[in-house]
Amino acid sequence: MNIAIVGTGYVGLVSGTCFADTGNNVICVDIDKDKVERMRAGEVPIYEPGLKPLFDRNIRENRLSFTTDLKSAVEQSEIIFLCLPTPPGADGQADLSFVLQVAEELGEMITEYKVIVNKSTVPVGTADKVRETIASKTNIPFDVVSNPEFLREGAAVNDFRKPERVVVGTQSERAQKLMEKLYTPYLKSGNPLIVMDERSSELTKYAANSLLATKITFMNEIANICEKVGANVDNVRRGIGSDSRIGKRFLFAGIGYGGSCFPKDVQAIHHTAGLLGYDFKILDSVMKVNDAQKISLVPKVLQHFNGNIEDKMIGIWGLSFKPETDDVRESPSLYLMEKLVEHGAKLKAHDPEALETFQDAASDVVNENTEYVQTPREALEGIDALVIATEWQEFRIPDLDRFKKYMDPAVVFDGRNLFKLEDVEEAGIIYYSVGRPTLGLDEN
Ligand code: NAD
Repeated sequence: MNIAIVGTGYVGLVSGTCFADTGNNVICVDIDKDKVERMRAGEVPIYEPGLKPLFDRNIRENRLSFTTDLKSAVEQSEIIFLCLPTPPGADGQADLSFVLQVAEELGEMITEYKVIVNKSTVPVGTADKVRETIASKTNIPFDVVSNPEFLREGAAVNDFRKPERVVVGTQSERAQKLMEKLYTPYLKSGNPLIVMDERSSELTKYAANSLLATKITFMNEIANICEKVGANVDNVRRGIGSDSRIGKRFLFAGIGYGGSCFPKDVQAIHHTAGLLGYDFKILDSVMKVNDAQKISLVPKVLQHFNGNIEDKMIGIWGLSFKPETDDVRESPSLYLMEKLVEHGAKLKAHDPEALETFQDAASDVVNENTEYVQTPREALEGIDALVIATEWQEFRIPDLDRFKKYMDPAVVFDGRNLFKLEDVEEAGIIYYSVGRPTLGLDEN
């Protein structure tokens, strides 16, 4: 099949590359000229494990190409995927301007039947808006399909190639057949392609992300209670996670969710509900609790240093919002570091992939007070305490004694509960984590 992907970010580039890999001809369109040039020169502009070899292979085999020219891509394609940004506006409402702008251009361009598939996360009713926008410009027949994307950054290639389900919102038989044909190679293990109306499909994506954000947040509240009553959230997690009605996943306490999806999608569905006169109370709490959770290590740091961290040097491990990505959108580190600097601390920060993206996103005051370093070890040199904000695999060092070589006493604030309490106890470091007893204070 001939496919155009409009918007070549995390979703567009992964989708386009994976569609090419099952034999389709894919043209990726982006308005960012520099990005298109880099991709044409063979560079993958994002960090996503496993993407580069697929990208290289499909370019070599002439199935994957890049352009800024929407018109030529549309002319050559029967299916056009919209993988465009839908960032939150000031009031939390999803900004549809990117999607509707392209819809208008498509209305002016199409000369024969096309299926326009929206992969962006969009409010309920967007398929209708896209349809109306295109139809206001042309009489050529077309279908608009909702096909929300569930891939996770850091595991995007695998998620795309082996989806647990594909959701397709359409009432057109013709479009449905094309979508089934396109997705068949990815559903060989028997996972379903679920067809529904466009509105339900659009809502499915928001429901999924909001439920997951709620589950994480619920567990963070349990962790906060654990700290007050002297319980251990790891034990509670194991105790409830073995109940199949609850499940083991998304039960890990930490310093809150971030990223480009959960925060914005929770806000967007909350806002949509409000517009319809419905007060989505659970999500209101989820947002408030998560905002507080992102900076919940700060009072612990302050308390440890008797309320004064002026001129303390604090190491930071982890800047991306989760491991295996360079994405820092809504990363807890952004908020946490801002607060630490506000209280007068100096920072030394390391992340395996997100050093550049973080500096672009951080405020001037954070950048001015932070030394960014290339290795986890350098971030330990000369510090008074370490804060761990992202659960990168390489931070799970088994040798906890190492901290004592760089800090005296060694003080670690672990926002992701990376270490076993027994190991920490044996190493004799001062250790604060989330929802678990603080260790090592008595000896000092
Ligand atoms: P992104 O910001 O990484 O990429 C968007 C791309 O669109 C950018 O490269 C930008 O230059 C390009 N663009 C903007 N306007 C354009 C135009 N007029 N024509 C062509 N290109 C244009 O965004 P993303 O993370 O890939 O997310 C895209 C959508 O998918 C969002 O709605 C998001 O909520 C949703 N989504 C994201 C994820 C994720 O993990 N990132 C997962 C599922 C769904």
